[in-house]
Amino acid sequence: MTSSVTAIDKLIANTIRQDVRDTATYFVPDASGYIKLDAMENPYELPDALRAELGQRLADAALNRYPPPSYTTLKGKICAGLGVPGGYDVLLGNGSDELISIMATAVARQDKRAVVMAPTPAFVMFARSAGFAGADFVGVPVKADFSLDLPAMLAAIAQHKPSLVFLAYPNNPTGNLFDAGDMEAIISALGETGIVVVDEAYQPFAKKSFMGRLPAFPNLVVMRTLSKLGLAGIRLGYLSGDPKLLEQFEKVRPPYNVNVLTQVAAEFALDHLDVLDRQAEMLNAERARLAAELAALPGVEVFPSAANFISLRVPDADRACSKLRDEKVLIKNLSKMDKVLANCIRVTVSTPEENTAFLNALKASL
Ligand SMILES: *Cc1c(COP(=O)(O)O)cnc(C)c1O
Repeated sequence: MTSSVTAIDKLIANTIRQDVRDTATYFVPDASGYIKLDAMENPYELPDALRAELGQRLADAALNRYPPPSYTTLKGKICAGLGVPGGYDVLLGNGSDELISIMATAVARQDKRAVVMAPTPAFVMFARSAGFAGADFVGVPVKADFSLDLPAMLAAIAQHKPSLVFLAYPNNPTGNLFDAGDMEAIISALGETGIVVVDEAYQPFAKKSFMGRLPAFPNLVVMRTLSKLGLAGIRLGYLSGDPKLLEQFEKVRPPYNVNVLTQVAAEFALDHLDVLDRQAEMLNAERARLAAELAALPGVEVFPSAANFISLRVPDADRACSKLRDEKVLIKNLSKMDKVLANCIRVTVSTPEENTAFLNALKASL
């Protein structure tokens, strides 16, 4: 056995990129037996009648066939139901994670290293996908209140000339919406030299969007996902932007990247968006309740959130997380992610019962 381990080690050293070998595996904790408040999932399921109908639709899906390559019906429902401007199409991804990777790959030119930029702390996949695509990632720190440092962003843009800039709106892991005027200044500063992706993963909760601004900014791309709305399991992301730009990204997209079960489930869900929107309303109401109760706790600083999660600073994040784990509540410790997040934790807004369980366990840890 020892010799085969050596052989495989040599094989890996001879074949796998150094930066890949040096990268840590994306860690997802085992959540069985836990109240899962670490991944911004919607705790609600579809009502029974809809689930039964969806079951029938899935049973009728042609599993023996490749998906329709153009996804015309699904794209049509997205464009009609989700505010995509007239004359604009969408590109579909196996989650928005895949779209991030497609865009990073498309800009990672070979003659000189391309730069992908985002204000940090940011969604981890921006930097990971940039690296795997062969581009450099440059993070520009946000201010202590998590707002954009516009002068620093503009200086970094002038210095590094990024091909791709990600602005999550609202930002993850902080939860706040950046100032829309600052974002427009960044989009304008990049002009013909760089693409700005406004990542609206939390748009169902934030109710704010750059989608309507697409015609005004040819270098703007708006990306969203069905994940946080309640369909994280089906993996469907979409983005819109200038048709000529989409045509380029489309070449990098693996054909049939969205499978037929996802296609059928997404079409069904889009026909029942009102149900999902009502769930988002309930979560927004709970977000307000949870934020108010957290703000009343001694030593706790709650940051404003437009998403289905809340970031907060506690006296001792490690102690809070370990107490919460003892009480079978799983949340995210943000402390080690970034200087600005010292002693910060992030909790997904869930059902009233789960939120209360979190509050009680947190109180006991303070
Ligand atoms: C969750 C999240 C995503 C990933 O969405 P998927 O469609 O599930 O891959 C993208 N961007 C941000 C900012 C997120 O928080």
